[in-house]
Amino acid sequence: MLSSPSGGGKTTIAKALLTARRDVAYSVSATTRPRRPKERNSVDYYFLAPDEFQAKVEAGEFLEWAAYAGYLYGTLASTIETIMESGKHAVLDIEVVGARKVRERLANVVSIFILPPSAGVLRERLSLRSTEGIADLEVRLQHAVEEVGAATEYDYVVVNADLEQAVAAVHHIIDAECQRAARLSNLGETMKELRDALKREAQSLRQ
Ligand code: 5GP
Repeated sequence: MLSSPSGGGKTTIAKALLTARRDVAYSVSATTRPRRPKERNSVDYYFLAPDEFQAKVEAGEFLEWAAYAGYLYGTLASTIETIMESGKHAVLDIEVVGARKVRERLANVVSIFILPPSAGVLRERLSLRSTEGIADLEVRLQHAVEEVGAATEYDYVVVNADLEQAVAAVHHIIDAECQRAARLSNLGETMKELRDALKREAQSLRQ
């Protein structure tokens, strides 16, 4: 689960991960925000009308949802289930309020906060995108003040000064987490097989 202030680079990092690895899949969120020119429905987001989003909230279809800069954003439980069933890791790109709910509900989540190297860089990145105008820029910068304060709630913090290095750091985190003993579901079986084989090896030396 990746979070950062808007413009912090988490979406770019998530995309780089998806291009580089076959063991991850992007959790496509639902939102009531209007589609940006380059975005595709069902790829970047499921773009929903407010009443469609609300109906899904009432039907309990969201793992989590939150309001952000005047729009609603949410992770559909079915999206995560489908990714889990495929045996891949789900990459979630969500804001801090939703991230808290995911932590409560998914015990094995790994959370990474992406920090911008400075306020100036964040402002510049947001201005360059500038699809939503100056009012939205201000709202997003104000949100950033709150969001940066949540960084310590995360398992890992990565400063995105250099995109390549930030992506590499996230790869390392995923790789290390995959090696956690608690996550290796067939560890017991592998250990038993290895121990039995070692006993046979030892016995063969005695004969
Ligand atoms: P944007 O409008 O820039 O695509 O996203 C605005 C914020 O909403 C970002 O911080 C992004 O991470 C967050 N966001 C995207 N999808 C979700 C989601 O499913 N749930 C929550 N809680 N936040 C999301």
